[in-house]
Amino acid sequence: MAVNTTWVFVEEQDGKPAAISLELLTKARTFGGQLAAVLLGTGSAELFAELGRYGATRVFHLTPDERLPTAAAAAAMAELVGSHAPDLLLFGLTSTDRDVAGRLSARLGKPVISNAIEVAIDGDDVTVTNEIFGGAQLVDTVFRAGAPYLVLARPKSFPAEPGDGDTPELIPVEMPEVGQAGSAVVTGRHVEEREGPQLEEAAVVVSAGRGMGSVDQMAIIEELAGLLGAAVGATRAIVDADWIPYSRQVGQTGKTVKPDVYIACGVSGAMQHLVGMKDSKVIIAINKDEEAPIFGVSDLGIVGDVHKVLPNLIAALKAR
Ligand SMILES: Cc1cc2nc3c(=O)[nH]c(=O)nc-3n(C[C@H](O)[C@H](O)[C@H](O)COP(=O)(O)OP(=O)(O)OC[C@H]3O[C@@H](n4cnc5c(N)ncnc54)[C@H](O)[C@@H]3O)c2cc1C
Repeated sequence: MAVNTTWVFVEEQDGKPAAISLELLTKARTFGGQLAAVLLGTGSAELFAELGRYGATRVFHLTPDERLPTAAAAAAMAELVGSHAPDLLLFGLTSTDRDVAGRLSARLGKPVISNAIEVAIDGDDVTVTNEIFGGAQLVDTVFRAGAPYLVLARPKSFPAEPGDGDTPELIPVEMPEVGQAGSAVVTGRHVEEREGPQLEEAAVVVSAGRGMGSVDQMAIIEELAGLLGAAVGATRAIVDADWIPYSRQVGQTGKTVKPDVYIACGVSGAMQHLVGMKDSKVIIAINKDEEAPIFGVSDLGIVGDVHKVLPNLIAALKAR
């Protein structure tokens, strides 16, 4: 088998493993073989145990200082790869993971395949699937450069499900000096304002598009979301128009969501939006144009004016 050992890069966020890393560990368990995590963060007994539950039998622990840690983390990983020879290295499509994977790719002289939505192992072939043209086409790519295979995967490509693994073996790893590349210092962190359910985790998402007409009309979206316990999402058009912050944008250059129910209000359904929500379980679209592409992915379509449909929907919900 081409892949005997898989490593998953794990960035610690707010004292927990980044959600994407748990998705990748879950996926990596299906490959069989050895599974380890490379943790970049302070670490804690609870966090190590969680990585163990998700299948890591070893955790290589890199502890950052006040410097931007990605260059040193990549250098440390390159040394670890040299001594342990893992076959497959999985990273998430986040800023830190991308930075580390890119630097590691350069250090190892190995390609990295980005934007993966699937990774399959068949004998000696490691095949990575990704979407192009905003999700209109799927491309399968097989590594030909030999191990280690470096893959950056899109969030929500795989479900995160804990297993019943034990607390892993902990291996502290020195962060090497990398000269100028490692000299940038982190001077501040800005936490996104968070109110209500989180977009990526909510079971129901109510999304608004330019068809809402104006920023004043966002109040009705908030009201509907409040009644449904939903998170509010948005198209790039209304983010660009400053109706809502970028953190709410769904799509190619925003977030990927997979809620149980996605309600698109005045959203045309441009490819770049669809790629971030088309895998939602049930999609409901309200659009006055029956030809709008959003209806192509909808389970339930309402051809109508949002200014009429939404007040009626809210009244019906309140009357329940
Ligand atoms: C590189 C790149 C990346 C991009 N990334 C993203 C991304 O991540 N996310 C994203 O969303 N977009 C992204 N876009 C932009 C994308 O191409 C579209 O422009 C955008 O999604 C359109 O937003 P919209 O549906 O709100 O607006 P529009 O396309 O203008 O659609 C508005 C819709 O509202 C309907 N409507 C109008 N009035 C009403 C009414 N009263 N009642 C009901 N319906 C009504 C109209 O029929 C229309 O279908 C990207 C574009 C590029 C080039």
